[in-house]
Amino acid sequence: MTTGSDRILIVGGGIAGVSTASALRAGGYEGDVTIIDAGEFPYDRPPLSKSYLAGATDLKQIALQPAEWYDNNRVQLRTLTTVAALRTAEGGIELRDGKMLPADRVVLATGGQAARPRLPGVDSDRVHVLRTSDDADRLRDALNRGARVLVVGGGLIGAEVASTAVDLSCDVVLVDPERLPIAAGVGQEVAAWLHGQHTSRGIETILGAVESFTDTGTGIDATITGEAEPRTFDVVVLGVGMVPETTLAKTAGLEVDRGIVVDPGQVTSNPAILAVGDPTRVRYAGVLAPRAEHWEAAQHDGQRAAATLLGVPAPAGTAPWFWTDRHHRHIEAVGCMADAQMTVLRGELGATAFSTFGFRDGVVVGAVAVDDSNAVRAARRMIDRALAVDPQRLADTATDLRKLLRG
Ligand SMILES: Cc1cc2nc3c(=O)[nH]c(=O)nc-3n(C[C@H](O)[C@H](O)[C@H](O)COP(=O)(O)OP(=O)(O)OC[C@H]3O[C@@H](n4cnc5c(N)ncnc54)[C@H](O)[C@@H]3O)c2cc1C
Repeated sequence: MTTGSDRILIVGGGIAGVSTASALRAGGYEGDVTIIDAGEFPYDRPPLSKSYLAGATDLKQIALQPAEWYDNNRVQLRTLTTVAALRTAEGGIELRDGKMLPADRVVLATGGQAARPRLPGVDSDRVHVLRTSDDADRLRDALNRGARVLVVGGGLIGAEVASTAVDLSCDVVLVDPERLPIAAGVGQEVAAWLHGQHTSRGIETILGAVESFTDTGTGIDATITGEAEPRTFDVVVLGVGMVPETTLAKTAGLEVDRGIVVDPGQVTSNPAILAVGDPTRVRYAGVLAPRAEHWEAAQHDGQRAAATLLGVPAPAGTAPWFWTDRHHRHIEAVGCMADAQMTVLRGELGATAFSTFGFRDGVVVGAVAVDDSNAVRAARRMIDRALAVDPQRLADTATDLRKLLRG
């Protein structure tokens, strides 16, 4: 199939960019597809705070696709190449070396960078962030046995780094201004249990914020709110969020509002340019949704963009889902626990496998499961179908969730 846009150029080879290319070919697109990425080759990011940081996998093992996939799917991959500007009015894009590449439609899949707040001393080499494999390599080199590590931020990435650092026998302190980080994503009950896991594994958790750093040559001093004396560490890791990469979008004059604004078909304010993944915000019925910043959301964006380019209906929407791994537990969340009016615990908090389901007006709106993927799969179907489920039966671990789905 060709679409009248015979050369599609994808800027960014993360999961969003690669899934756009993959869905274009799966949908029968016959035109040229090119992915341009600044890195060595497209790789997956979630392992960077988990197995890759622990040294259990190498970069090749976390490639998004095997090298031959690109040839087999007629996807031209240009790596170690940076796009400097979008020149769609002139029929293409401009690379950093000044070269122009022709394109009929462009898909921006530029991801983002780890946030680095402007704190005094934050530019010290001892202060790390984690977004790329280079960041992970540098951090791993610093996570020596017994290293004193300060993790700033107890969200998803901060908690994963803290967990991996403990596995590597580091001495870890975690600071966060929130009493229960990620409560909005997993609900209060599970958030409290998760945060408590840090303490069980010997991590000191501090409620507060870092005000400044001083590199002393032999370590780094961190001043923390409410503490009289600075504390000394060998390594600091900032896990304080992501800054969306919107430079190309801004200079191309696209609508940007703390993210590249797209419609539900991933089209930006310029119809020749689509955008997918971490840097995007979708406007639904006039309301801008927050950036999703999760792996599956980026993958689904790519599939939706491909559908738009192919002129076919987008795949059916489904409740948002993400996972995180910490302290040897696998946590998955689906839907929106923040919308729940009441929650139901299935199993015992902390048991080998357990889950919580959030209800609003009698229907399940969110769920979180620890080492129980079946529960999350069932929850997703309940949410997608807006099923009214009996909370008591749901709470009973003897109830077969498949039966509940049948009504
Ligand atoms: C350490 C870490 C752990 C994570 N763990 C989880 C997890 O457990 N579960 C989960 O659901 N999500 C997780 N995430 C989030 C998930 O990885 C992201 O949502 C996902 O990678 C977003 O994909 P993307 O394609 O939008 O962006 P990215 O993966 O950031 O890809 C963007 C690409 O664009 C390239 N690029 C940008 N600008 C240019 C340019 N001008 N020219 C050329 N190339 C350019 C960049 O080099 C980059 O390769 C994690 C993220 C990180 C960083």
